[in-house]
Amino acid sequence: MPNFLQQIKGRFPTVHLAAISICGVILSITLLLLPSEEVSATKSNLQTVQTSTNTTHAGSVDQTSQRVRKSIVLDLARPTSSLPENQRDAATFTPAPETDVTTALLQPTENWISYTVQKNDNLTSLFKRAGLNARDVYNISQATKHDNELSRLYPGESLAFLIEEASLKKLKYEISPLKTLLIELIDNKFAVNTIERTPVTKEHYIEGVIEGSLFVDAERAGLSNNMIMQFASIYGWDIDFSQDIRKGDSFRIIYNEQFLDGKKISDGHIVAAQFINNGENLTAIRYTDSEGSSSYYTPDGHSMRKAFLRMPINFARVSSRFNLSRKHPVLNKIRAHKGVDYAASTGTPIKASGDGKVIWKGNKGGYGRTIIIQHGSNITTLYAHMSKYNKKLKKGSRVKQGQAIGYVGKSGLATGPHLHYEFRVNGAHKNPMTVKFPHASPVPKKELVAFGEVASQMKNQFKTYAATLYARAN
Ligand SMILES: [Zn+2]
Repeated sequence: MPNFLQQIKGRFPTVHLAAISICGVILSITLLLLPSEEVSATKSNLQTVQTSTNTTHAGSVDQTSQRVRKSIVLDLARPTSSLPENQRDAATFTPAPETDVTTALLQPTENWISYTVQKNDNLTSLFKRAGLNARDVYNISQATKHDNELSRLYPGESLAFLIEEASLKKLKYEISPLKTLLIELIDNKFAVNTIERTPVTKEHYIEGVIEGSLFVDAERAGLSNNMIMQFASIYGWDIDFSQDIRKGDSFRIIYNEQFLDGKKISDGHIVAAQFINNGENLTAIRYTDSEGSSSYYTPDGHSMRKAFLRMPINFARVSSRFNLSRKHPVLNKIRAHKGVDYAASTGTPIKASGDGKVIWKGNKGGYGRTIIIQHGSNITTLYAHMSKYNKKLKKGSRVKQGQAIGYVGKSGLATGPHLHYEFRVNGAHKNPMTVKFPHASPVPKKELVAFGEVASQMKNQFKTYAATLYARAN
């Protein structure tokens, strides 16, 4: 994955780097947290989504005007046949404006005045600008103290006030495009309501053929950076996109774009994808289980994820490989190196490579501060030379894949700060860089029928979309 990110970095003008590295961070987070990566509409990721969307839009207009696309964007939700031939691929979808309760609530014929949050603004300064006093600030703070929704205002956001006869009647604050806080004076008390909106989703299909790199060809096909990242993170457990892809490999992606008031607010997420790699069809289906957590599975219900991360650390380089006849740098004699060393700066977080239970936390001779995790009945992983542990962990604690368990250091016998990482199967040391990992948990047995329906529906969708594209091209 780091290679893939570097590849992307190399391709982009510096202006876009910020957005991409945020995507990169989100990607790594997603990799760690896939089961619960449900779109959480936090401010930062909405902004990122928008940034990358804009970037890509500019790109795809260029591609369209050149008319040399190897792949076509198809939108079956829209009657494309009515459009002139040269506008079909680039046409923008404009859903009918929604007239729902929310819109009615927020756009009455009242005299709202809106103030934009500036740098260093707080509730007091904004209220002052609106002609309100400290008493009003106090009342609103009291009303919102439970969830503290107004405690962090970001520059560029806005607060809207409804003031009648010099007193505050209503206040509204758009937390995100999908969530607005409405505070209303009712019977001399401020009542707080959160108004949630549901975006209109539109299914989108894109396919393409790899000529050079996934990034270049997927972008040419019309995928945004964010979507390419999603795609790469689904397949990243099995495929190294800088090494394993072949000219002629192809991809098909179905995703749900989200619109609000006719404006695209997000790419949404991939609902199904196919990647034909070296002749092998790798299909991934998104499925949300009865507990509400979403993940990607093969059509027969196996997880696309692996039970272990290949590297339990980011921002590190391999400084010493698994080697059973290595000369030890400190002891200066032949001593097997039964793990991998990752050099990284002191304090870099070390992640549990899989779900499991802490069975050792403490000093362990030359290993220094060490944690050992038991995964299932026959696998253990060991993390040595830590500077500190995650304070919350103790012997017996359950850990999740990707959770920080400690921090890089050089405790024990170490020449510099690094993580020494071991992987044992039935007590025998295996090379963590090459050992075959089992898949993460499959679709729960009791949900296989429901999953099967989703999977076969997606299979049909791929067929329909591909046939429509084929018919259109001939
Ligand atoms: Zn080592």
